Amino acid sequence: MTNDIWAKVLSALKGALGANSYSSWIEPLEFAQLSGGVATFDVPTNFIGNYVSQNFGDQIIYHMNNAGEEVQRLQFRVPSQTRPAEKNKTVSKPGGRKTGTDAPLDARFTFDTFVVGKPNELAHAAARRVAEGGPVTFNPLFLYGGVGLGKTHLMHAIAAELKQRSPELNVLYLSAEQFMYRFITALRERKMMDFKQLFRSVDVLMVDDVQFIGGKDSTQEEFFHTFNALVDGQKQIIISADRAPGEIKDLEERIKSRLQCGLVVDLHPTDYELRLGILQSKVEVYAAQYPDLEIASGVLEFLAHRISTNVRVLEGALTRLFAFASLVGREITLELAQDCLADILRASDRKITIEEIQRRVSEYYNIRLSEMIGPKRVRTIARPRQVA
Ligand code: ADP
Ligand code: MG
Repeated sequence: MTNDIWAKVLSALKGALGANSYSSWIEPLEFAQLSGGVATFDVPTNFIGNYVSQNFGDQIIYHMNNAGEEVQRLQFRVPSQTRPAEKNKTVSKPGGRKTGTDAPLDARFTFDTFVVGKPNELAHAAARRVAEGGPVTFNPLFLYGGVGLGKTHLMHAIAAELKQRSPELNVLYLSAEQFMYRFITALRERKMMDFKQLFRSVDVLMVDDVQFIGGKDSTQEEFFHTFNALVDGQKQIIISADRAPGEIKDLEERIKSRLQCGLVVDLHPTDYELRLGILQSKVEVYAAQYPDLEIASGVLEFLAHRISTNVRVLEGALTRLFAFASLVGREITLELAQDCLADILRASDRKITIEEIQRRVSEYYNIRLSEMIGPKRVRTIARPRQVA
C-alpha cells in the first residue's frame, strides 16, 4: 500500500470517527506492512492496539477496502526498539499533566448516546447524579456488570460531563491496569512522590475494571492508600468492575469493604427492548454516514432477538452489516444480515443444555456428576443439586 492510499484512508477515518477519536487512537498508528490480506501497524502500547482493534477495527478494514486494498485482518505490534522511549514518556506524564483525563476519552461515549432501559436505568441515574458534580453524596460510586454492558461508556460519559460543567475540576480517568503500570514505573524510577502527589491532587478519580488489581498485592496496597486519602478529602471516586466488590478474586477484605461503602449498582444483562433501542440509535448515526443505504424492516428486530450476548457484539454486527452493504451496494435485508453475520449469529446461538449446567455445577462443588443426579441426599450433594 502506498503512503498516498494510507493518507486517503486516514482522511476517511477522520471523517468517520471525528477529530477526537481520530487523534487519540488513529494518529498513534504507524502503518507497517500489508501482506496476505493482513495489515500490520506499529502501536506505542498494547493497550492502544487492543482498543483500536476492538473499537475501530471494522471501520479501518472497511476504509482500506474502500481505497482499493484487500484487507481481511489487522494486526498490531509494539515495536521493541520504541519501548524505552515509550516508558520514558509515561513516566514524565504523571507530574507533567495537570488537568484532564489520563486515558483519552472516547468522544462517542456520552450520556446522549447512552440508551437507557430497565437493565441499566439505576446505573445510569447514579452516573448522572455523580456527573452533576456538587457535594459528594455517595463515595465511591461502584458500577459493575458483565462485559460490554456499558460500564466504560458510562464512565467516559461522567468524565465528559464533569469536564464540560466544571472545567476547573481535575478529573482523572484510567484503567486499573494503567494504575498498576504507573505505580510500577514510579517505583522503578523512584518517583513515588510524584505518583502520590498526582493521585492525591485529583478532584475526581475514575478507575475502570478494578478487578484487574486482584492478586496484585502492592498495587492493591497503593490503591487502598490513594482511595482513603481521596475519600478523606471528600473527593469523588468512581470505580467499575466486572463483578460485585465482594466477588472480586484475591482482593483484600479491607478494600472490598471500602468499595462497598458508597453506592454499588449493577448493569444487568440487556433485554430485547434495550437492544432494539441501542440498534435504533446506532442506525441513526450510520444513516448519516451512509445516506444511500436502506435497511429493511424487521432486520433490527431480528438482530436484537438473536444477538443477546453483549452490546459490543451487537454494535460490531451492525458496523459490519453497514460496511458490507455499502461495499456491495445493496439494501440491508434479513437475508443479507444472515449471510454477512453467519459467524456472529452462530456464536450467539449456542444453547446451554441442562446437562452442561449439571456438569459445571458438579465441577464447581467437586462432586461427581453421577452423585449429583443419583439418589443420595447428604447435604454436600443436596446443595449442589439444588443449585443446578
Ligand atoms: P464495558 O465497559 O461494560 O465492557 P462498554 O462501555 O465498553 O462496555 O460498552 C461496549 C460498547 O457497547 C460500547 O461501544 C458502548 O458504547 C456500547 N453500549 C453499551 N451499553 C450501551 C447503551 N446502553 N447505549 C448505547 N451504547 C451502549
Ligand atoms: Mg470496559
